[in-house]
Amino acid sequence: MSNPTDTIFGKIIRREIPANIVYEDDLALAFTDVNPQAPVHILVIPKKPIVNIATAELEDQALLGHLLLTAQKVAAQAGLDNGYRLVMNTGNDAGQSVYHLHIHVLGGRSLSWPPG
Ligand code: AMP
Repeated sequence: MSNPTDTIFGKIIRREIPANIVYEDDLALAFTDVNPQAPVHILVIPKKPIVNIATAELEDQALLGHLLLTAQKVAAQAGLDNGYRLVMNTGNDAGQSVYHLHIHVLGGRSLSWPPG
């Protein structure tokens, strides 16, 4: 599996490539997805390079909770009062394309279920 420090999200964290950053704190960053699948599509990532939820460790417990509350915050900031979906694609079968853990925050339209 690729080294997370080499991913495009690592470059965004290090400000080596631009992103539309909507939230940042010491532990997390949130920015709009470059290929939005809904009117609101924001990615919440840890600054720590964790590959995905499958490789997260017990020491990441508080950080993972922080990411969920960050997702809550950016969803509220984006005005998703009618609901939204949080997605974490994990590994090949789920179509994970960037191997740096991220939470998709999707909303602004009615979302079908189940996903593809
Ligand atoms: P996943 O397929 O779950 O790994 O999600 C990766 C997401 O990252 C996709 O929705 C891409 O559109 C998005 N993405 C890739 N590169 C960038 C970038 N430079 N800025 C913002 N979003 C990106």
